[in-house]
Amino acid sequence: SQFIVGLTGGIGSGKTTVANLFAAQGIDIIDADIIAREVVAPSSEGLNEIVNHFGTEVLLDKGGLDRQALREKIFRNPEERQWLNQCLHPKIRQRMIELVKKSSSIYTLLVVPLLFENGLDSLVDRTLVIDITEEQQVNRTAHRDNSSTEIIKNIIKSQMSRDDRLSKADDVISNQGERQQLEQAVIALHRKYLTLSEKS
Ligand code: ATP
Repeated sequence: SQFIVGLTGGIGSGKTTVANLFAAQGIDIIDADIIAREVVAPSSEGLNEIVNHFGTEVLLDKGGLDRQALREKIFRNPEERQWLNQCLHPKIRQRMIELVKKSSSIYTLLVVPLLFENGLDSLVDRTLVIDITEEQQVNRTAHRDNSSTEIIKNIIKSQMSRDDRLSKADDVISNQGERQQLEQAVIALHRKYLTLSEKS
């Protein structure tokens, strides 16, 4: 069956940037953020279950999910947050498995921000962590999103620590330097993954 590499890293580490370089090598990319939106799309099973549980207050006029309203429902309410996770995680996992089956590249890259936190590393054969300093995470994310450093620091705190993430990685790409340096690192790993895919 398909050889799967799980790509992860903290907020603003460069996951999308690196994934695009693998895509340029002809590798199919599966993006967990896109799947997470798909499973609550208008008239999806996920959205129906959420509305049955939380009420129509979490719906926008157009029939889509009101994320802000949902966030308020689970804010400071661990039981509701757990309910939501238990509703969505199996659907996300199932959809990932479906998309991996459809992938036709020699191996497949699964891009998952919370790969370790959500136990999705159990789906992959190998993990690749994109590593930068926390200071760079704050600077690059603030620059990209025009958001406050305080919010970004809170997101970093809610994610796994840099050391814990690195200790779980099979492979690491440091993105602390210039963007141009990434391509060489990606090509080297791409060769390695081609070899590993042949053996699996
Ligand atoms: P998120 O977790 O928020 O989705 P991400 O891990 O996908 O982020 P990217 O969006 O790829 O990260 O990168 C974060 C920002 O940093 C982007 O604006 C990107 O263009 C920029 N960036 C990526 N690599 C470098 C680099 N080596 N030097 C400077 N800027 C970089």
